[in-house]
Amino acid sequence: MGKIIRLDEVTINQIAAGEVVERPSSGVKELVENALDAGAKKIEIYLTNGGRQKIQVVDDGVGMDREDALLAVERHATSKIREFQDLQNSSTLGFRGEALASIAAVSRLTLQTAVDPAAPGTKIRVEGGEIQAVETVGAPRGTNISVENLFFNTPARLKFMRSIPAEVANVKEIVTSLALGYPEVSFRLLHQEMKLVHTMGTGDYEQTLEQIFSPAICRELFPVAGDYGPLRITGFLGRPTIARGNRGQQYFFLNRRFFRSRLVAAAAERAYDTLLPVARFPFLLLNLELPPELVDINVHPTKMEVKFRDEKEVFRGIIHIIRGALEANVTATSWRPQYRPTTVPDREQPAAAGLFEAKVEEAAAQVESTQASPFFATVRESAVPFSAGGPAPAPPTEEWLAETVTAQEEGSPRIFPLFDTYLLWEDATALVLVDQHAAHERILYDRLRSGSTVKMQYFLAPLTVELSPAQLQIIHEEGDLLRDIGWEFEAFGGEAIILRAGPLDFSVAEVEDLFLSLLNELGATGEARQVDPKERLLRLMACRQAVKAGDRLSAQEAAALIRDLRRTKVPQTCPHGRPTMVAITKTELEKMFKRR
Ligand code: ADP
Ligand code: MG
Repeated sequence: MGKIIRLDEVTINQIAAGEVVERPSSGVKELVENALDAGAKKIEIYLTNGGRQKIQVVDDGVGMDREDALLAVERHATSKIREFQDLQNSSTLGFRGEALASIAAVSRLTLQTAVDPAAPGTKIRVEGGEIQAVETVGAPRGTNISVENLFFNTPARLKFMRSIPAEVANVKEIVTSLALGYPEVSFRLLHQEMKLVHTMGTGDYEQTLEQIFSPAICRELFPVAGDYGPLRITGFLGRPTIARGNRGQQYFFLNRRFFRSRLVAAAAERAYDTLLPVARFPFLLLNLELPPELVDINVHPTKMEVKFRDEKEVFRGIIHIIRGALEANVTATSWRPQYRPTTVPDREQPAAAGLFEAKVEEAAAQVESTQASPFFATVRESAVPFSAGGPAPAPPTEEWLAETVTAQEEGSPRIFPLFDTYLLWEDATALVLVDQHAAHERILYDRLRSGSTVKMQYFLAPLTVELSPAQLQIIHEEGDLLRDIGWEFEAFGGEAIILRAGPLDFSVAEVEDLFLSLLNELGATGEARQVDPKERLLRLMACRQAVKAGDRLSAQEAAALIRDLRRTKVPQTCPHGRPTMVAITKTELEKMFKRR
């Protein structure tokens, strides 16, 4: 007796539903993408009880005639492709023709649609995949689909639904993402009476961003645009100030399809490099464009993942383009977190590093010449800081003030030491605090990396350093790396080596200690391994060489530190990604003191 039977259509659709609609948010995604494919300019989404009770999506797209509407709820019925070849070139979001049938198989679905408002429309009711009724009704152009009691007939699936707030958050994320990808379409998401997303569909990216994110976030975004071979990227990047502990603020589109990609995230994060500490993730809104033959989108049932034909090139391209934008925006024009350039620098990306230097100078000059940016302007009048009420910090010493005045005459801003750890200064719009150690680390690191001013010293009496077998092994394997960054040493027999030269500015005792620390760093295991060893050595040397918290700086030293910090490429963070400075704007202070 045969045991194999053909599954009936409804069962097949219920199984497929498990792949296509896992939860309300995936249902919403399919329905909204259908609306986008139908050319809708306005899409409204209503949820009841996190979508468990009801999901309704209303669009003003082309609609369907009666025959198409009936076909649409059948499996593998699609108007979008005719044969497999079309898949490759499909520019629509859907193409498998299984979403509607899958959703209909596991819910009570009502579809109302009309092509022409003058002619009658169609209303179809489906329950658990079975068509219950087909009527002719008057309806506006477009499609209105409501999905009630999702998974009512598949109790196993129902169990996997999460709490209502979690489902709502998922739907909100999907709608937000699609709204970001389609600024020309108006999206409105309501959960019961609560409006969660509302974009106007003006087509303007910046307006759309402002309709979705808070002003505090928007202020920290800047555009990115660039090409790398066949890859083109446009979008927005966030400054390090709004980085988060998770990747919740990353939105990727490939040829206008929303997708998720570890590769894209990893490449972009690599581009941010030391701008971000470990485990902080940037805001990214990236529209990737690639010729369709260079990608394979048909790898995942819900099409959330893509496969690039040449992953390495895509990876390189992303780093190149994003780095260009970061160099032009974060490092040159906004080295204080709150500063926003009034004259947006050239959106074109610099082609080479040398060009970048020129751009920095250019941007700095631009900034300097506008009154809008007091940051680069020097303070000439000798007003007393904190003239506004409130507790003033401990007054600087006479000596400090005297030195500061001299420094000022030489054209530096007023700088005050705080706890022998921070340097504080005031410009016309903000109070800025610099961490002297982190700032110095950044300066030294940049110098070390540029290789031009690594100052080495030959020791009067070469040092003999005893090493463990493990340390000797490291010297054996990585010695060239150490020589590369200016150390000179040779074997002394047994387990000792002779150190002949090392970096300037260290006492003999410190040099030995530093050398051993570098060996330890080279022998490090675990997470540290992910960073290039030379890079790690430079960071460590910069850290050791930098002034410490608690070191008292003279006014000249402080002024020089600030000046040098300004000249670095990434003044906002130290090489480990910690901030070198924080700023409190005048407006923020006024709010604190209830002056506003
Ligand atoms: P796919 O999107 O993969 O083609 P679906 O099951 O999602 O498959 O939809 C099946 C077909 O129903 C689509 O190809 C389209 O022709 C039609 N359709 C679905 N939703 C809409 C809509 N909102 N407006 C117009 N046509 C729609
Ligand atoms: Mg679809």
